[in-house]
Formats: sequence, structure tokens, C-alpha cells
Amino acid sequence: MQKIVIIGAGPTGLLLAHYLLGRGDYQIAIYERRPDPRQIAPDRQRTFPITLQLRGLRAIQGIPGLEKALQKHSNRSKGACMHRQKGEPRYLERQNSLLLIDRNQLVLCLLQKLLEHPDSDQVTIQFGVTCTALNDSAQTVTLQPETEKPFMASFDRLVGADGASSRVRDILVETGAMSCEKSFAPDVYKSVFVQGNRASIDPDQASEQASDMASELAIDRIHLWSINLGQRLIMAPQPGHWLHGTLIFPPDNNPLTPLNSADDVRAYFQENCPPIGDLMTPEEAIALLQRPVSKVPEVKCDRMHVGDRILLLGDAVHAVSPSIGQGCNAALQDVQVFNQLLDQCQDNWEQALPAFSAQRLPDVHAVRELADYSFPRSRLMRLEFIFRLTVGKKLRRWFPGLLDSMPMDGIMESELPYSELLNRCQTWVSRVKRSCNA
Ligand SMILES: Cc1cc2nc3c(=O)[nH]c(=O)nc-3n(C[C@H](O)[C@H](O)[C@H](O)COP(=O)(O)OP(=O)(O)OC[C@H]3O[C@@H](n4cnc5c(N)ncnc54)[C@H](O)[C@@H]3O)c2cc1C
Repeated sequence: MQKIVIIGAGPTGLLLAHYLLGRGDYQIAIYERRPDPRQIAPDRQRTFPITLQLRGLRAIQGIPGLEKALQKHSNRSKGACMHRQKGEPRYLERQNSLLLIDRNQLVLCLLQKLLEHPDSDQVTIQFGVTCTALNDSAQTVTLQPETEKPFMASFDRLVGADGASSRVRDILVETGAMSCEKSFAPDVYKSVFVQGNRASIDPDQASEQASDMASELAIDRIHLWSINLGQRLIMAPQPGHWLHGTLIFPPDNNPLTPLNSADDVRAYFQENCPPIGDLMTPEEAIALLQRPVSKVPEVKCDRMHVGDRILLLGDAVHAVSPSIGQGCNAALQDVQVFNQLLDQCQDNWEQALPAFSAQRLPDVHAVRELADYSFPRSRLMRLEFIFRLTVGKKLRRWFPGLLDSMPMDGIMESELPYSELLNRCQTWVSRVKRSCNA
């Protein structure tokens, strides 16, 4: 039986454990830096909503019963509602519904379902331990618990699923085994949480007085507000009548910096995103002021494996900006693709690892291009973007060759490989890239 050590119990590491457990013949040890999510109150500073579309959902569906388990803790969205300062909101319909789930809730569901597996005795998970060192030739990793002395764990195969600031990847880069470009997405964000009362976000439950707000914050839509100077608010309805989201802004334009009190914060939201301002409690307004600003790391690597023992998956090897909501979808799809290669190679990792890098790298590089350059940042191109989204969409129905394809429909509605999608939208992506670098 092969011993697989997985560093990181995020969505990627846990989904991989599910797939390996299903294959039999693997002893799996997972080490996670954060505390056991079953034992702590949800940490709101380090969570945000995740949107899963066909690609991520397909990977989830590979594990019997998992999608059903997630459904209890998520909402389905049939599209977006783009709220406007003046005039009616614009609605964007999706053919395939999206699953909206809080990142920590996704992790908790994956973990609980893993521990319910009949062969769960083949998995051990240790929380509160950080991987600090790796010795490839000795096939060991060093793990540092919070208060006790470090210890070593040996492996036959090692998987770095330890997110954008991956220690496994950084060690491999330091030793020259691979190379990686690191940067930050241009915008930063703060998580926002508001609890709507039942009537405020569920139209079926709305009283007459609350019906305006109810339709404004429909439970089956992602809600977007484009404020000004690059500030945006994205809110995703969650079970329990919560709305979780992110206030996104350029690093030098934090709208909360000049504000001092709960009233100031609520006034900002009431002016720019009225229903959210009305729902925000003074406690949440103060918590939001105090919550740290988060940067979004991006990484681009030249490979996804090293030698015949080490594999890198998910954000550890391709963290991207959340602008197109694909980081987690791509990460979960990594696991599904690797599992297919294990099928083809009959669990021979020496063959599966290089085949994985060769097959998957063009796609994860394409996600990065799509994430960076699907949405324009210049004013002129933003106007063109809105025109294409509204009038252009109708025109294309009648004159299919008139306008070249835009990325978002293919990203959200299809399962096309990212590299093929990028090919189809290359004209638009190249124009946005040129305008960003001008
Ligand atoms: C604001 C925001 C919104 C997003 N929205 C979406 C979305 O709508 N759709 C989408 O598809 N994606 C979205 N993403 C991206 C998504 O969150 C990530 O792609 C996804 O979480 C990647 O999963 P992962 O398991 O690879 O990494 P992570 O989720 O980062 O998990 C890695 C785990 O490894 C642990 N770890 C790290 N270092 C060590 C160490 N040295 N030792 C032990 N453990 C370690 C961490 O504690 C963590 O639990 C969003 C990201 C952000 C920031």
C-alpha cells in the first residue's frame, strides 16, 4: 500500500483524499496548518463565498453523495443581478445554475463526508501542524505543531495542496526543481457579511412592504454593485438568510479608510448599495472596519510535478485572481483529471505525474490569462464590454460572425478546456491585455 502525504486540507487536498480513498490501496496522511474546522466557530475574517460551475461540480460529482451533502449548505444561483445607481437592475441569466458555498463550509462538508467513508481508517488528518521542510531524497517532510516539537513524516508520494503560499512549492523552487512567478492581483478585498431577515431576501416570504427589497436581493442570484473608482461589491446569498461577499477595491482606494464609525460605514453602503446598507448591523459595520484588507496572490509555475514522487495541485501551483470565479473550479478539476490519469496509468505515478503536467499545464496557464484579462480596466473598453454584454448578445443571435466571442459565457456555461476557451476568445483577451499594459 502506498503512503500518500497531502499537505493542506483545503478543497483540493480533501477532494484528492476522497478520490484516492475510492481507489483503495492508499494510506493517506493529511497535515493542515489551520485548526480542525469542526471545533472552531466559523472564522469570518478568512472566508468568502465560492461559486462552483460545471467544471468544479463535475469533479464533486465523481464522489458519490458529495454534491448532495454540499447542497444542504449552499444555494443555487441562476444568474447575476447587476444593481445600478440609477435605473432598474440588469439581470444576467445563466443556463446552468451555479452552486454558491462559503469556502470554510465547503471544506467542512468535504471533511465530514471523508470521515464518513467506510474506509476512513485509511486516512489520518492532523490539524494545527505546518509543513516547514521537505527532503525529497529521504522522502520525508518536517511538520511543526503549534506548541510541541517538530516531527517528521515519511511518504511514498507527496502532494502539495497547501494553497497560494505553498511551502512545498517554495522549497522545490528554492532547490531549483521548478520555477514559479509570484505576484498579486491588482485589487484587494474585505469580506462582508450581512444577515437579511427572511422577507428581505426570499421573495416567497416577503411581506408587501418588504417585497421591493426582496426582489432586489433575490436568493437565487449573485448580486453585484459597481460603485466607482474601481470599487465593487459582490454578495452571494447563503443558507440561513445570510449574504456573504467581498468589497473589492484598488489598494490605494480603500473606501473605508476615511470612515470612523458604524454610522459612517452604513452610510457608505446605504448610498452605494442601499439594501446592503439597510441590512448591515452596527456590529458588522465595526467588524468590517477592523477586518484586515486581503491581497490575492497569483502564481504561475512551469510544472505541476517534480520527479516521480511529488505532485502540486490547486492554488499551490496556479492561484489566480477570483475575477472569473475559477480558482476553486480549476483546483477541483485538477483532482478529477489526475484521477483519470491514475485510471489510465493503472496507478503508476511515475507515468501519471509527467502526463499530468503535460496535459494540465496549458489549461492552468490559460485560466490565469482568462482571470487577468477577461474584464477590461480601461474606461473605454468597459463601455464596450457592457455594450457587448447587452446589445452584442442579441446581435450575435442574428449575426453570429459579427462580434468575436467574450470569455465569460464559455467560462460559466461550458466545460470546454480552458486552453480551448482562451483560443476562442484570444482577440478579446489580447485587446484587454494591451489596454492594461498601455
Ligand atoms: C475572495 C475570493 C473569492 C473566490 N471566489 C471563488 C469562486 O467564486 N470560485 C472559484 O472557483 N474560486 C474562487 N476563489 C478561489 C478559491 O478560493 C481557491 O482557488 C481555492 O480555495 C483553492 O483551494 P486549495 O485547496 O488549492 O487552496 P486553499 O483553499 O488555500 O487551501 C490550502 C490549505 O493548505 C493549508 N496550508 C497552507 N500552508 C500549509 C503548510 N505549510 N502546512 C500545512 N497546511 C498548509 C491552508 O491552511 C489551507 O487550508 C476565490 C478566492 C478568493 C480569495
